[in-house]
Amino acid sequence: MPDAEGLERANWAGNVVFGAGRRVAPTSIEELQSIVAGCERARPVGTRHSFNTIADTTGTLISTARLPRLIRIDPAAREVTVSAGTRYATLARELHAQGFALPNLGSLPHISVAGACATATHGSGDHNGNLATSVTALELVTATGDLRTVRRGVDPDFAGQVVALGALGVVVAVTLAIVPTFQVRQDVYQGLTRAALLDHVEEIFAAAYSVSVLTDWSSESSRLWAKRRVVEKAGEADPVPMEMFGARAVSHPAHPIPGLDPVHTTRQLGIPGPWHDRLPHFRSGFTPSAGNELQSEYFVSRDHADAAIAAIHRIGDEIRPALQISELRTIAADDLWLSPAYRRDATSLHFTWLPDEAVVARAVAAVERQLAPFDPRPHWGKIFALPARTIRASYPRATDFLQLAGSHDPTGTFRNPFLAHTLGLA
Ligand SMILES: Cc1cc2nc3c(=O)[nH]c(=O)nc-3n(C[C@H](O)[C@H](O)[C@H](O)COP(=O)(O)OP(=O)(O)OC[C@H]3O[C@@H](n4cnc5c(N)ncnc54)[C@H](O)[C@@H]3O)c2cc1C
Repeated sequence: MPDAEGLERANWAGNVVFGAGRRVAPTSIEELQSIVAGCERARPVGTRHSFNTIADTTGTLISTARLPRLIRIDPAAREVTVSAGTRYATLARELHAQGFALPNLGSLPHISVAGACATATHGSGDHNGNLATSVTALELVTATGDLRTVRRGVDPDFAGQVVALGALGVVVAVTLAIVPTFQVRQDVYQGLTRAALLDHVEEIFAAAYSVSVLTDWSSESSRLWAKRRVVEKAGEADPVPMEMFGARAVSHPAHPIPGLDPVHTTRQLGIPGPWHDRLPHFRSGFTPSAGNELQSEYFVSRDHADAAIAAIHRIGDEIRPALQISELRTIAADDLWLSPAYRRDATSLHFTWLPDEAVVARAVAAVERQLAPFDPRPHWGKIFALPARTIRASYPRATDFLQLAGSHDPTGTFRNPFLAHTLGLA
């Protein structure tokens, strides 16, 4: 429910009502600088798609949605600079119109570029990094109200500043590396057995540019979303199999959550289309996912993918009453200090839960117990209960990030209880 200024009081899922005493949406960078300089406590917020209190504050919640819109493409440098609050859907249309693309997108294009990069939002693909790995520069307003630019290759601690969970300042512009536009086809296969999944995990995820396995952890239920780049040779597209690992291509469009209307999803059935109309599962302007849900996700090293998946299969019956669907994806390793794929190729195990916090808390505890042997890193923007000591132990550069936050924001303007609970940043 928006306030008198039209600013929302809660996150997208409605499970977090922001505790902010004040909500603002500055319309110029100068206004933003003066707001930040005058705040004791503040947090930046994007399109509010996170499921936990990561964006929350008791002070001032600062939306970047009304800052002047910027999409500046530099074809020679193969970069685009975009205002922080721009949604991927808007950016992607403009890039494609100018002959460019991003290598990957998350399951939905509705989210803001700065908010997505701040939490290492990802799509799938063995060789695709999360969305933050495309960032080559950031312009941000620091706690003192100063405007700073940081750039890969110039600032030694750049890799600590991209997946920053809103702890270092309010990003106002993001520069991203871009690639030539490309076409993608999307095919859905059903009937992937548990045995086939566990026996062929590596080959399944290597079988297309972006692969997702959708499962409710029962033995015959899994479905496979294969997104392939369309490579035309002498006018002919590469042949695509009707069967993958025993699963058969479906002949009708499907929604990742069985029974929901596929009108919300991007086109399937192998029909080629631009990257931004195929890589996300959900169409902009339509409801992403179930629309009424909570989410959790954990990243394990790809070496442990089969063991971690088997471990969750063992508690399938226990968590299924809380579950709408699970999704397995892969993410390439990167060098961003707080990225869940930091220095390790990752497999992610995602859970779209029913919107019942008590039931979800029990299911999350069960999942975290099962994944504990595999050093799981939780998605920063979703629901988890792992304590700060476990999370910090999993990130070799966690202490460096805490020092970075200390030097950038010595008075703790951008700190909140979430950062204290998850990283010990108090
Ligand atoms: C239906 C649905 C599907 C999803 N699918 C995926 C998926 O496929 N893959 C995936 O990885 N995640 C997915 N997510 C999670 C989502 O991508 C992340 O929560 C992401 O952070 C949302 O971006 P946002 O702009 O809404 O950020 P918000 O939730 O508004 O903010 C998230 C964080 O970013 C910070 N932030 C926001 N703007 C700025 C800024 N200008 N400067 C500095 N920090 C800022 C905030 O302080 C906060 O810490 C999904 C979420 C939903 C609701």
